[in-house]
Amino acid sequence: MLDNDRLAAWDRESFFHPSTHLAAHARGDTPGRIMTGGKGVFVEDRDGTRLLDGFAGLYCVNVGYGRPEIAEAIAGQARELAYYHAYVGHGTEASIRLAHMVTERAPANMSKVYFGLGGSDANETNVKLVWYYNNVLGRPQKKKIISRWRGYHGSGLMTGSLTGLELFHKAFDLPMPGILHTEAPYYFRRANPAQSEAEFTAACVAALEEMIAREGADTIAAFIGEPVLGTGGLVPPPAGYWEAIGAVLERHDILLIADEVVTGFGRVGSMFGSDHYGMRPDIITIAKGLTSAYAPLSGSIVSERMWKVLEQGTDAMGPIGHGWTYSAHPIGAAAGVANLELIDRLGLVENARDTGAYLRAAMTDALGAHPNLGDIRGEGMLCALEFVADRDTRRFLDPALKTGPAVAAALLRHGVIGRAMPQGDILGFAPPLCLSREEADTIVAATHAAVTEVFPGR
Ligand code: PLP
Repeated sequence: MLDNDRLAAWDRESFFHPSTHLAAHARGDTPGRIMTGGKGVFVEDRDGTRLLDGFAGLYCVNVGYGRPEIAEAIAGQARELAYYHAYVGHGTEASIRLAHMVTERAPANMSKVYFGLGGSDANETNVKLVWYYNNVLGRPQKKKIISRWRGYHGSGLMTGSLTGLELFHKAFDLPMPGILHTEAPYYFRRANPAQSEAEFTAACVAALEEMIAREGADTIAAFIGEPVLGTGGLVPPPAGYWEAIGAVLERHDILLIADEVVTGFGRVGSMFGSDHYGMRPDIITIAKGLTSAYAPLSGSIVSERMWKVLEQGTDAMGPIGHGWTYSAHPIGAAAGVANLELIDRLGLVENARDTGAYLRAAMTDALGAHPNLGDIRGEGMLCALEFVADRDTRRFLDPALKTGPAVAAALLRHGVIGRAMPQGDILGFAPPLCLSREEADTIVAATHAAVTEVFPGR
């Protein structure tokens, strides 16, 4: 094994890390961490530091670390047949079984699943399918996609454009033409403090209606949204939001893409966020929780209505011109089958609901009265704390103070990983769905200690 110093040097010399301050990392100014192991909700680094991973990697290791059932499924598939493609009707038992298991769990009107590798490529697929759909239906001008500010849908050219976070656009010449962003359904940050939640929902819906009227419904193909805003701040929708948005989209014949990369397979305490919030999507994006990140795999689940048009397209034009070498990769598929079986066997959807509610209640007991805590929110196994300068006036902190990152750094010193969400002073938790109540207590105690350190005397 390489010694720590040599590994750190090679890392700085050779490894281009994603979402990293490249210059600071290359200079060795910022700490990295070389991970070596994990079990349950804990991970360990090369220095022997053991941390409770309160964000499940990037909210993806839903069944927790070190599950032998999945490791064995991957090894078995690799031994038997590590790879075969899925083009022109080919498949493996693992990919067929997984497609069946996914559609069995998906909302009733969903029909087929296309497998990719990660959330970004799945959303690229979705945009292509939506464009293809409208071309088959003879309406080539109906192509724009509406996303939301603070939405996160990936960091490719199209998906980075859909993402409504400035960091993902800046200096990349994004967003691309034809991508529109509407109001984020973020009640805590509403511009008008006097607005009730119902009034705020109505304002979001009115903003969407105005956008559709301005652009012309005949130019808009689809609306994409996460059931719960994720990277944009872990924000559950205001009451009635999805029902009202869905009604507008249906009236204007605009497809709905539910991006369930985070929420799919139990994160919000239901198998899918679409069922949880009464969404009626035409496409559902899945990734992360599909394999609990034991192997890269994503998917686009398409509705029966959409499928019929895709079939019509291939009858007219021949095979669909879309596919990746690694679509439905057998190793990812084997991991997915074992992962979904484990979620059922361990009752992780129910645990996400119950232990997630316990975590938020315990967090509220410990910190709910803190003068710098403006909001504690979440759903299922998602919990966010939003810090403010003054909770009574809802005055936000100066972003230059980087208070959110300071709390996350203090938390780490207390042995727990939380995520400083990129836009706002928001500390996010999305632990593995197998979190126990005792582990939730550990998160809360460490958070209390971290907050006390960052806001001394409050
Ligand atoms: N969609 C959502 C809702 C996500 O949260 C993410 C990643 O965090 C993506 C898409 C992109 O997935 P990936 O990073 O696997 O490309």
